[in-house]
Parts: sequence; C-alpha cells; structure tokens
Amino acid sequence: MTTTDSSNNKGSILLVDDLPDNLQLLSELLIQLDYTIRSVTSGKMALKTLHVKEPDLILLDIKMPEMDGYQVCAALKADAKLRNIPVIFISALDDKIDKVKAFSCGGVDYITKPFEIEEVVARIENQLTIQRQKNALQQEVKKRQETEEVLYQSRALLASVLNSALDGIAALQAVRNSQTGEIEDFRCLVVNPVIARAFNHSREELIGKLVFKKFIHRINTELFQRFVSIVETGESFEEDFYYVYGDSLWFHFVAVKLGDGFAITVRDITSRKQMELDLQAANHELQILANLDGLTKIANRRCFDDFLAQEWRRLHRSQHALSLLMLDVDYFKLYNDSYGHQEGDDCLIQIAQALQDVVCRPADLAARYGGEEFVVILPETNQAGAMVIAQAIRDKISALAMPHRASRVKDIVTVSIGVACMVPNLDLAPDVLIKQADIALYEAKHQGRNQFVVFQAQ
Ligand code: GH3
Ligand code: MG
Ligand code: MG
Repeated sequence: MTTTDSSNNKGSILLVDDLPDNLQLLSELLIQLDYTIRSVTSGKMALKTLHVKEPDLILLDIKMPEMDGYQVCAALKADAKLRNIPVIFISALDDKIDKVKAFSCGGVDYITKPFEIEEVVARIENQLTIQRQKNALQQEVKKRQETEEVLYQSRALLASVLNSALDGIAALQAVRNSQTGEIEDFRCLVVNPVIARAFNHSREELIGKLVFKKFIHRINTELFQRFVSIVETGESFEEDFYYVYGDSLWFHFVAVKLGDGFAITVRDITSRKQMELDLQAANHELQILANLDGLTKIANRRCFDDFLAQEWRRLHRSQHALSLLMLDVDYFKLYNDSYGHQEGDDCLIQIAQALQDVVCRPADLAARYGGEEFVVILPETNQAGAMVIAQAIRDKISALAMPHRASRVKDIVTVSIGVACMVPNLDLAPDVLIKQADIALYEAKHQGRNQFVVFQAQ
C-alpha cells in the first residue's frame, strides 16, 4: 500500500487495482492534480485500510482475484460506517462490465480502461462535489435538528413558566385599521392558564382571537385607550383594578410594550388590598376616635383646637367674623351629688346631643371642652347670629326639661353661655377668642346663670 499526501489536496482517494502498473500510472496523474492518494492491490487490503482511515472516494477495479470489485463494494455498503463513501468502478474495455450490477451493488459511476485522465478527473470531481454537497446538507440538517431541539426546549421552558406561574401572563399584538393605521383591538398571542381562567375561557378560545377590547370593557371602558398608548408611546403602565372573580376582588397589572403590542402580567392582590383597605378603615376609625369625645360622642377638645386654629386662619384671609360660644352647666356638681355620677354622665350626653341638633350648619362645630363645659364654633357668624344660636341652645336644653332638684336657679338643668365674636387677626392667637368667651361665661354665671352674655370689650 502506498500513501501520498499533498498539502492542498482536493480530496483523498483510495485506488484499488490488482495490477500495480495501473495503480502507478493513475496515482501519479492524480497526485499531480493535488489529490491525496492511497493505493492497494486487493479487495481485502482495501477493506482493511478503509477501517483505518476513510477516503472521500474509492476507485475500484472490478476484475481482481479472490474478491472482485462487486464483492468489495457490497461489503463496504453493508458497513454503516463506510456506506457513504462513493465508489467508482474501473474496468478494462475488454471486460464485460455488468453496469446494472455495478449500480445495484452500490457504485455511483464507472470508468472504462483505457481512460483519458480528463474524464477520470471529471468523474471524480463530479462525485466529490456531490459528496461535499451531501456532507454540507447533512451538517445543515444536523444544525437544524440542534436548533429545533434548542427551540423545543426553550418553548417547553417558556410553556412550563407560563403554565406554572401564579400570575396571569399574556402577550397581545395590535390590530390596526388598514386605512388609518389606528389600533382597533389587540390579538392574543400568548395567554397562560391563569388569565384564561380569569376570563372563563380556555386558552384555545383566546389565542389568536380579537377579544381583548370586549374583555377590557367589562372592567373599565377607559382602560382600552391606555393600552393603545402603551404601544404608541412605549411607556409602560401599571395599576390596581377591581374585578370580581371568585373570591378575588383586586388585581394589579403591569403592561409593557412588546413589538407592535404589549405584554401584561396580572397578579391577584386581593389579600394585600384587603389588608390595605382594612388598615385604611382602621386608620380612619382611629382618626375619628382621636377627634371624638368618649362620653358624648361629639368632637373633643383636640378636634376643637385644630378646627379653631384652621378657621382662625381662613377667616383672617376672608376677613369674616368668627363666633365662639362657651357653655357651662349650672350647678352641675350639685346635680352629681343629687342624682349620682352616672346620671350626670347621661345628662352631659343629652346636652351634647342638644348642641349637635342646634348647630346644624356644616361649617359649625360643637365640641366638649372638658368636664361639663362645651364650646361651639360658628364660622362666618357675627354677634347677632351667635346670639340667636346661644338662645336656641338655651331653649333646646330647657325643652329637654331634665329635672335638677338641687339647682338654685330652676328645677330643671340649665346652662350659662359666654358669647365672643371677632374677625380673626393673625397677630393674635385664637386663645383670645376663648378667653373672651370665658369672661362672658363668667359674667353669665355672675349675673344669675341660665342665660347668655356677649363679651364686650371695655
Ligand atoms: P356652676 O354653676 O358654677 O358651673 O357650678 P358647677 O357645680 O357646675 O361648677 P363646678 O365647676 O364646681 O362643678 C363642675 C362639676 O362637673 C364637677 C364635676 O363633678 C362635674 N363633672 C365634670 N366632668 C364630668 C363628667 O364627665 N361626668 C359627670 N357626671 N360629671 C362631671
Ligand atoms: Mg364648670
Ligand atoms: Mg358648672
């Protein structure tokens, strides 16, 4: 066996011929043409060397002792590893070549001796080209299979993420008016089971369908336009929304632009939202409680202070009058002594209710100032107006006719009221008005109780 290597060979060829002269001639010619040549003189040797190194092509003599070319060809076609090497038969002109047999045992071509080297090269090149194309095709197929496998795996991964996600996930594509280009609806490209369930449909019923606008209108008719603007502006959009679905009531969604459409994730936030709402309600309740008097359930001192400070500033700006009534139950210590503290509490509750009934303008505020003292703030009320209210309060409490046998002014519960009125001045604190009302109240007590007195500047 002889092997000749060439640095920039055009392909490797195994020559099999029992006549060394034939081999010598052909191999020299082919080496000159830059082919890499190995030659052997028997079929057995050919099969042996083939297992060592595979050539790109075999030129195989037919008529050989021991094992003829057909047998060699049949043997290598039976071998899965060698089967793809193309075999060109060579036969002497005087051999009766069986062309059908040559092809049926796996040969791809045949050349008759004596040959012209151009013809041999042309036939060799022909087969090598086919072989190269075959290889390239096989590589391509293999690459494609690999890509398909990767694609399949990433699809499977995506599907398992979508299917197992606790959030709803969908991708939608804009459907535009062919004339105006305006977005008319969105087509569902991807919908995971959570979304499908939420809309009470199977995924198949949603994917590829134009149902988005219809569904979104169920939630909120203005929402559709906001999804359109995600696509038009590229700005993402997230929001909590209320949608009744089983025990779920609140959802949060995030939508981001994706191609000529958007992707959306929807999360059930019912329990979190419920907690927020409960907390808000509890805070609101606390806020109310913090401003309410525990016994009488009308505004407390703290609420009064805040409201007075606020109205003081507001009415300073508008330069309108602010009136304040300060009210104290007459001989209340004696009332307690006479009827008991519990009865005293009930009496205070009734007085508070009476105040609340009289002071009915939304801007007014009746509050418990402390003990058996109450205050009433009357914004935008002048002195005459305040006097009307003071009188109305007295009348209302008289009308309750709560017995007070220990009173030294009447046999029912009465009150004394101090009235003060001024246009707020920011140079002064609102305490001034309280002080004036207190002085007027003291005066009312002094003058015999069961009356109101208006503060008069000296
Ligand atoms: P005057 O006519 O001068 O106002 O006499 P008075 O007895 O009402 O005045 P004083 O300020 O001496 O007494 C107020 C009483 O109010 C003392 C206290 O026992 C009673 N009091 C204060 N807060 C409460 C309360 O929340 N419940 C009850 N039952 N009594 C209260
Ligand atoms: Mg008092
Ligand atoms: Mg009193």
